[in-house]
Amino acid sequence: MKRKVLGMVLATSMVAATLVGCGGGDAAPAATSEPAAEAPAAEEAPAAEAPAAEEAPAADAAAPSGNKVGVAMPTKDLQRWNQDGSNMQAELEAAGYEVDLQYASNDVATQVSQIENMINGGCSVLVIASIDGESLTTVLEGAKSKNIPVIAYDRLIKNTDAISYYATFDNYKVGQTQGQYIVDALDLDNAEGPFNMEITGGSPDDNNATFFYNGAVDVLKPYMDAGKIVVPSGQIDFATVGTPAWATETAQARMENILSSNYSDGTQLDICLCSNDSTALGVENALAANYTGEYPIVTGQDCDIANVKNMIDGKQSMSVFKDTRTLASQVVKMVGQILQGETVEVNDTTTYDNGTGVIPSYLCEPVFADVNNYKELLIDSGYYTEADLQ
Ligand code: BGC
Repeated sequence: MKRKVLGMVLATSMVAATLVGCGGGDAAPAATSEPAAEAPAAEEAPAAEAPAAEEAPAADAAAPSGNKVGVAMPTKDLQRWNQDGSNMQAELEAAGYEVDLQYASNDVATQVSQIENMINGGCSVLVIASIDGESLTTVLEGAKSKNIPVIAYDRLIKNTDAISYYATFDNYKVGQTQGQYIVDALDLDNAEGPFNMEITGGSPDDNNATFFYNGAVDVLKPYMDAGKIVVPSGQIDFATVGTPAWATETAQARMENILSSNYSDGTQLDICLCSNDSTALGVENALAANYTGEYPIVTGQDCDIANVKNMIDGKQSMSVFKDTRTLASQVVKMVGQILQGETVEVNDTTTYDNGTGVIPSYLCEPVFADVNNYKELLIDSGYYTEADLQ
């Protein structure tokens, strides 16, 4: 009976979420006003649907009652995490919370000790964008033992049942958007090809990276199978094309090798499928220094300033825009719902299994961006100023 109630609440949440969209301005309807006492979100989740939620401490009466929120971000090196962190800090503070915001220089040990400090320093909720999704199991036992709910931010944290919720963009759709851009740009349904493609993937320790890769490759696979797309380097598997730590320099060095081994004889390179903007930047640097043929299609993700500038200059074809403001707003909303004992709004209870069960998730919509719509998406929306892009 109780399970049924939760099922209905979840369904209501999902409908509500669909209606308001990600981080939609006003307070969420219906679902948010469900008091925890009536629908104790976590504890009564049916195992088959969302086993991880069974032990989620979100609505646990013993959870800390303070208003301090720990926000652990991976690195300041990448533009987006700075925006994620500062957006969240500003919104949380505006909502009356105290914020402990930490960046870990992409160093796992640093992130672990920052999280330890948050747990021991009186945080009531933790929001964590992990560096390595598999390295936080031990430290998060501390959060669980103190009933501190944890929201995995953007990247899923694996192999721990201390995670209550996951908020991210639809990562598979990010990859599909990149793949579909290539299909459309080359008119692959009608063109004969073959077109030469090289793939640059994301960091193997980031759960998102395989979703991006699979989303794109699932769209392109039929054309690869038909021989319309070929990969002269032969490097296709995710394990072969990954870029540890998403490092620009690593992507650049790898592409320089690929170019000198496969394209120095004048072979045309048509497509560089890059999972995100930091790797795309490395590929663009390699192309600038080592390639003189007709410029290929280059994909990306994040709409980082350097990449949008390259898009305007014709050195990157597209990027996927993930508005960090919407993700931050959604997470701030989740934090409020958790701390007020309300039902937490989610819109996906099937996709993200972290090894202990499916984590109830909120997926924001990624949006396609290119030179034709960047002004509307990025400048008119106030994400960047014209001056930022000069
Ligand atoms: C994020 C991307 C980002 C990448 C590198 C991924 O987890 O989803 O937006 O480009 O990490 O930081």
